[in-house]
Order: sequence, then C-alpha cells, then structure tokens
Amino acid sequence: MGKVMVIGCGGVASVAIHKICQNSDVFSELVIASRTVSKCDALKEKLQGTTKTKITTAQVDADDTAVLTALIRKEKPEVVLNLALPYQDLLIMECCLAAGVHYIDTANYEPEDTAKFEYKWQWEYRERFEKAGLMALLGSGFDPGVTSVFSAYALKHYFDEINYIDILDCNAGDHGYPFATNFNPEINIREVSANGSYWEDGHWVETKPMEIKRVYNFPEIGKRDMYLLHHEEIESLAVHIPGIKRIRFFMTFGESYLNHLKCLEDVGMTSIEPVTFNGQEIVPLQFLKAVLPDPSSLGPRTKGKTNIGCIFIGKKDGREKKLYIYNVCDHQECYREVGSQAVAYTTGVPAMIGAMMLMTGTWMKPGVYNLEELDPDPFMDALNKWGLPWKISEDPELVE
Ligand code: NDP
Repeated sequence: MGKVMVIGCGGVASVAIHKICQNSDVFSELVIASRTVSKCDALKEKLQGTTKTKITTAQVDADDTAVLTALIRKEKPEVVLNLALPYQDLLIMECCLAAGVHYIDTANYEPEDTAKFEYKWQWEYRERFEKAGLMALLGSGFDPGVTSVFSAYALKHYFDEINYIDILDCNAGDHGYPFATNFNPEINIREVSANGSYWEDGHWVETKPMEIKRVYNFPEIGKRDMYLLHHEEIESLAVHIPGIKRIRFFMTFGESYLNHLKCLEDVGMTSIEPVTFNGQEIVPLQFLKAVLPDPSSLGPRTKGKTNIGCIFIGKKDGREKKLYIYNVCDHQECYREVGSQAVAYTTGVPAMIGAMMLMTGTWMKPGVYNLEELDPDPFMDALNKWGLPWKISEDPELVE
C-alpha cells in the first residue's frame, strides 16, 4: 500500500489513473499533478466515488524544478509516474533525486528544440540513482515497455539466443477524421517524420522517412501496410539482448494519414523551427497540434483493433526457432472501460503496472533500468490480469 504521484493529465495519464484507481490494494493514495489542474480535478471528480484510492490534485509546471521538488517533498509519494512529455524527463528525474523518490516514465528524453531521442541522457543518471538507493524505470508503456518485457520473456522461456527481432505496431482503428494522431500530435509527428533506422550487425542503418514498406497479415486484423521507423527500444534491446544481429520496428499507416502528413510537411507545418507570425514567435508543429483533434477526444469515435507485438528468430537447443508474442486490443472495449481509445489504453495500463512493480518491491533495484533488464514473469502475469492479455504463435508469418 502506498502513494503514487502521476505527473501529466493527458490521454495516457487518464488511462493509468483509471487503472491505479482499480488497484487500490497497491495504490492507497494518488496525487494527480499537472499543468492544467482543471483536468486533474475533473478526473478526480469522475473517479473518487468509484475507488478506495484517496485522490488529491495539484497544479504544477514540471519545467520548474524547485516547485516540483517542493511538491514531491510535501506529498511524499513512493513513486513518481511521469506521464507528461518526453521534454520533462531529465528535469523530473532531477526532482526525484532531490526528493528521494523512485521514478518511472513511458518515453525517453527528447530535447524540445531537436527532434532526436536517445537513452544516452537518461542512462547517464545510473550512478546517481544507484548511490541514492533509488530506482528509475524507463519506458513503461507498450512500445517501449511491453515489447521490452516480451523480449525478456522470449529469451527467458523460449530461446538460448535471439538473433532477430521485428517489433510490429498495427493500429487498425478508424476514428473517422481525415487526419488525427492517437497520442500527443507533436510527439507523434516528430517521431514519424524523422529518418528511420534499424540495428544490424552492431551498427545503425539509417533510412529516409517511410522508405521501407512491408505488408503484413496481422492476426485478428488482416493485411496492412507498415513502414520502418526509428524507435527507442531498438537502442536498449541492442545493448541488453545478447547475440542480437538485427532489430527493426514497423508501424502501420493508412493512405489518408500519409497523404496528409506529406502535404503538411511540404508546406512547412511540421517544422519545429520557430517563425514570426503577426509579431509573435510560433512553432508551426505546435500550432498544428492546436488545430488537430485532441487524441483524448477520439475514444467515442474510434472503432477497430490494435495489434502490437514482437517476432523473434533465434536458436533453442541448436535449432532455429521463431516466435510471435502479441496483444490485440479493441478500441471500443477500452472506451467502455476507461473512456479512452486503445492507443492510450495500451500505454496507460503498462505505466500503472510498472508503478505497481516498484511499489510492491517486485522490481526494486537502485539504478536506471529498461524493462527488458528485469524479470519479465510478474509483468507478463499482470498484463493478463489488468486488461492486456497476450498471445503466442510458434509459427508466425515472417517479415521479409
Ligand atoms: P498528452 O499531450 O495527451 O498529455 C500530456 C500531459 O502532460 C498533459 O496533461 C499536459 O498538460 C502535461 N504536461 C505537459 N507539459 C507539462 C509540464 N511542463 N508540466 C506539467 N504537466 C505538463 O500526451 P499523451 O498522454 O498522449 O502522452 C503522454 C506520454 O506518453 C508522452 O511522453 C508520450 O510520448 C508517451 N507515450 C508512450 C507510448 C509508449 O508506448 N511507450 C505510446 C504513446 C505515448 P496540459 O493538459 O496543460 O497540456
């Protein structure tokens, strides 16, 4: 039993908070702290009659480390769950160190003025967390997060050595808009408009955005076009999975999404370089975010399923072996349960599970860790229990 502080109150946080409130045996108290406190208050209002978890709210700008550290010291949570934006990761880690509290997030640090994310900055905190006797758990969403746990589980139970991993992220949901993103539009568009890359034979191979396309027949969904992207778990799995030769990440996109994105890029609307408009400096991508549908409003309109998982090829007892571990999630079922679509659900549930792993001491090691470094079994059990059951196929279709 303990207290968790969630920072941020957007699409992913809303799901994690619903799940925390379903799990009052572990989370006896919850502080929701975000920039716009009215969103925290509205969620508290909705949930407090339905849960034994005691909910309080606070206004905080996580960019102000003195104020956030003071808030953490005052509230004394066991764990801070950072569900704000990747720009705040390092600042919130600093506040956790100053206040002596464990840290979790779902996305790795990205400087606001450069569309580039890598673990380097957060891994540099290892020694400081270790010395402070605190744990930082990085990337406890679905991808990264569950895909990292799937990799550790495959290695522990099915392989002597994994040589190839293909991570496949399929969202076959239809929200009815010509163009909208399923999580924060600014972060999403920065990710998909960047160069792609994959890890092969000990080094990165860079590709142009959307240069590599494959078609895959997803279980329970059918055939979809998918494109190779750079993704953060490739970086950590390349370090933590011994014997790995290649890791790729593919995400599905529909024709309408890609056509709109191309057009927005061509006219400069996805740029993060500030421009002056009517005497005021604006970032085109941030302006675009302001006119696009809010991802948290997509829940009631989105129909269809997601399928996210990993295909592994490696060796067991000297023979080649392949395995596919995946989860299928239905947008409308998620909406009925927590009022959100499946992309927020598939991220918010593992965020709650990561916090539970630390809170219960199931995963507790001072230092900075990615999820594949920890025992996957309790997390895999929790996925089945808390709404993201997984399946295994021992004869999957492979990606060429
Ligand atoms: P949203 O934009 O919906 O929510 C972000 C929340 O953070 C908002 O409530 C926002 O406040 C708050 N916030 C932003 N800046 C600050 C700040 N300086 N101080 C305090 N609060 C702040 O984003 P999502 O919920 O879609 O995404 C949340 C995180 O989840 C992102 O880091 C994203 O990259 C990650 N993610 C990870 C995935 C995974 O599988 N690992 C998949 C999808 C997302 P306000 O309400 O005022 O705007």
